[in-house]
This record gives sequence, structure tokens and C-alpha cells, in this order.
Amino acid sequence: MWRGGAWALLAAALAVGLEALAEWLLRRRRLEARRREVLFFPSRVTCVEGLLAAGEGGTGGVGPCSCPLPHGESPLARLLARLLSARRSLELCVFAFSSQQLSRAVLLLHRRGVRVRVVTDADYMALQGSQIGVLRRAGIQVRHDQDSGYMHHKFAIIDQRWLLTGSLNWTAQAIQHNRENVLILEDAECVKLFLEEFEKIWENYNPAHYVFFSKEVPKENKHKSETERQLKK
Ligand code: ZN
Repeated sequence: MWRGGAWALLAAALAVGLEALAEWLLRRRRLEARRREVLFFPSRVTCVEGLLAAGEGGTGGVGPCSCPLPHGESPLARLLARLLSARRSLELCVFAFSSQQLSRAVLLLHRRGVRVRVVTDADYMALQGSQIGVLRRAGIQVRHDQDSGYMHHKFAIIDQRWLLTGSLNWTAQAIQHNRENVLILEDAECVKLFLEEFEKIWENYNPAHYVFFSKEVPKENKHKSETERQLKK
């Protein structure tokens, strides 16, 4: 009798233990899945006013949006949500930046006191539609390349914790029409490497180091037309 009872107890304990283990593994897996996200573009056009309004802290008073756009999930909405989660810092390295929604999000972070630093390509920044001037006028620090190669990176680091990287330029064209990808991940090692790269570029593009070459041909014409094509993108 005693023996049978002990076995039953042991079996029950084992079952409970296994169930707990399975639950723990499942929870861990879900948590890990949440630390990686892949976004594919083009993104359907959705209204992101609610996201931006919430980011501004205005939750009360804003009723459901009545604009004709669909309201729901989209890759752009997810990108914006991740961006707006920043509390301390944003390092942004992007070749082309003309998306007004992403610009509004970056301005919003700046107003919230998040330390924002932007690195971009010199050829693109002065072209019509670029948001770089808007960011600068708001007091955001921007630096740009000073050499013949492109500053062609497209990555961002949020709170020294999240890395966003991929093919996407921050332009409406790329968001709505191009096939692009953005990988969002929470990975200390990757973040560290990208942050080091950012700091290196930031220091490299320090205006104090800028050297003017009077006879230097700035960039080849094909680069210019490439840049203009990018703007239309
Ligand atoms: Zn709306």
C-alpha cells in the first residue's frame, strides 16, 4: 500500500514539474520571440495619428480618428511604435530621410527629452522633401558625411538596447512602394557593435574636423543622379 502511494505521489509531482517546465519554456520562447521582429515593406497606408498622439501623451480627449485611412496594424505602425518607445536615446544613421511620419516621431522624442543624434548623407539632406532641415531647426544634432562615398547605412539604436536595421530608407516612397526589410532586435552584442560604429562615424563627421578642398570634385555626377532617384523613391 505504502509503496503504491509513494509512486503515485512521485508521479503526480513529476507531472506537475513537467507541466511547470513546459510552461516556463513556452513563456521563454514567447519572450525571445518578442525580442526579434522583422518588418517587410511596402506597408499599406494606415493612419498613425493615434500612435503619434499617444506618443505626445495626449490620450484623453482624442476620440477615435475619423479619417478615411484604415486604422490598424502595419509595418510602418510597428516601426513607429518601436521608435516611440524610446525613453533615453536615439542614434539614427540613415541615408535618406523624408518620411513626415517618422520625422514627427523623431521630433516628438526630442521634445520629450530623448537624446537624439542623426547621421545622414550630405547629398541627400539638402534636397526637397528631406526632413533633415526640419530636425535641425528643432535643435536636433545632425552630422553628415564629408567624403566621396555614401553614408549608406540604415540603422537606429533605441535606448542603447534595441537595434533597427535593414534596407529601408526613411522615405514615403520606400515605405509605401519598395520591397524593403527592417530587423528589430534586442541583442546586447549587436547593439554594442552598431553603437561603436555610430560613435566612430559621429566623431568622423565632427564639423570641427571638416577640411575644405578647393579643387576637389565633390561627387561624381552619377552619384548625384542616383541621389535624385533616391528622392523620388
Ligand atoms: Zn485616422
